[in-house]
Amino acid sequence: MKNEKVDVLVIGAGPSGTVAASIVNKAGYKVKIVEKQKFPRFVIGESLLPRCMEALDEAGFLPFIEQKGFQQKSGAKFVRDGAVCDFSFASQYTKGWNWTWQVPRADFDKTLADAVESMGVPVDYETTVTDIKFNPDTTSVTTVEDKDGNKSTIEARFIIDGSGYGRVIPKLFNLDRPSTQKPRKALFAHTVDLNRSMADEPNRITIVVHKPDTWVWVIPFSNGVTSLGFVGDPEFFKQFEGDDEKVYRAIIESEPYLADRFRNVELKFGTRILESWSATTDKFFGDGFVLTGNVTEFLDPIFSSGVTLATVSSQIAAKLVIRKLKGEDVDWKTEYQEVMMQGVNTFRAYVFAWYDTSLHKIFFAPKPVPEIQNMICSVLAGYVWDTTNPYVRDHARAIEKLAKVITLEESIGKR
Ligand code: FAD
Repeated sequence: MKNEKVDVLVIGAGPSGTVAASIVNKAGYKVKIVEKQKFPRFVIGESLLPRCMEALDEAGFLPFIEQKGFQQKSGAKFVRDGAVCDFSFASQYTKGWNWTWQVPRADFDKTLADAVESMGVPVDYETTVTDIKFNPDTTSVTTVEDKDGNKSTIEARFIIDGSGYGRVIPKLFNLDRPSTQKPRKALFAHTVDLNRSMADEPNRITIVVHKPDTWVWVIPFSNGVTSLGFVGDPEFFKQFEGDDEKVYRAIIESEPYLADRFRNVELKFGTRILESWSATTDKFFGDGFVLTGNVTEFLDPIFSSGVTLATVSSQIAAKLVIRKLKGEDVDWKTEYQEVMMQGVNTFRAYVFAWYDTSLHKIFFAPKPVPEIQNMICSVLAGYVWDTTNPYVRDHARAIEKLAKVITLEESIGKR
């Protein structure tokens, strides 16, 4: 059986794996990526957040992405019964990036994977990790299988698991834990958006509140295609009859904000479904490995946090791996897991507040306070590690208090 030796083995060539691989490679270590699928491959997660630009920049990917002409994204718009709440990333509390992109992920992820390969990191496609053995000195031997069933082994000083929904290490070592999020379902497709007008603001994601806990994403791409998806309780979808495409078109018809633009729209591929995607794990690290991206925790798509958490976790983890390889001590709990949980828990509070509708109250308040909107805007831009922002530092309490004040003021007729 073929055996090869590397400093760092990265599992998965998604944004998480490629960002981590690039940063470690730039430090002069021998890195290799193994990827189960052939690229380009479909994956959902098309609306990025400005904070991920810092990670993409550190990985050296921005010049490669810029060449692709993806749709620039400058904000996020929320719509409910004709009321509009528009966040522009230019008006933010945190000083950082004020734009990013909306991307068909097949193209985007291939761009990152090709970029990292051009920097000297080999990517073995259609190669699946099937087993990992850690040695007492924390080095490891990973068994992989190619598409023809040929097995080989890779010895590594360290493993970065960026396998996304594959969750390789949590599954192999029984680290998976059930999520506290309620199970939700998404029904989505890419549409040929012939009725798009400039009024539809292609430079932002639009989130439409369809029912209190059912929402719609509208993500325009630069190629005239728009990603349109519905997210809700699995029970919500059962009221519509017929196959998935009939259900998809029936929901379009039932939502006034969408009906004219998307009625009879051509679909680039059949509708797709994802369900119960939230997952978590006890530990984001162990002797000889670190988990990054979706493998650590994926909450909910409402605030487009997935790729940002994936790339930022890799940006932080990669630098700690470099220190570890240099023989320095790394306190993974405080320097990695607790840092990541700061961001995850901030988004989690906003996700809960979205579904218990307190955030709707804040977004659609008749007279929002600009300074507070700017602080919330920074959370929506992914700056969830800026603890000088009270809406990051005291996330749950700050939102709850604000929603209560708005309710009180409404009841006494102030707003
Ligand atoms: P992935 O992109 O999933 O990459 C992991 C790679 O690992 C895959 O290519 C896979 O083939 C490979 N792999 C898996 N198992 C193995 C194995 N055994 N061996 C080798 N390779 C393996 N995020 C956003 O930022 N914006 C959004 O608008 C958004 N919308 C979403 C909508 C829905 C309905 C859902 C469910 C999620 C959404 N997300 C969104 C989240 C987003 O999909 C993920 O957070 C993001 O793709 C995570 O990136 P990653 O690199 O961690 O994993």
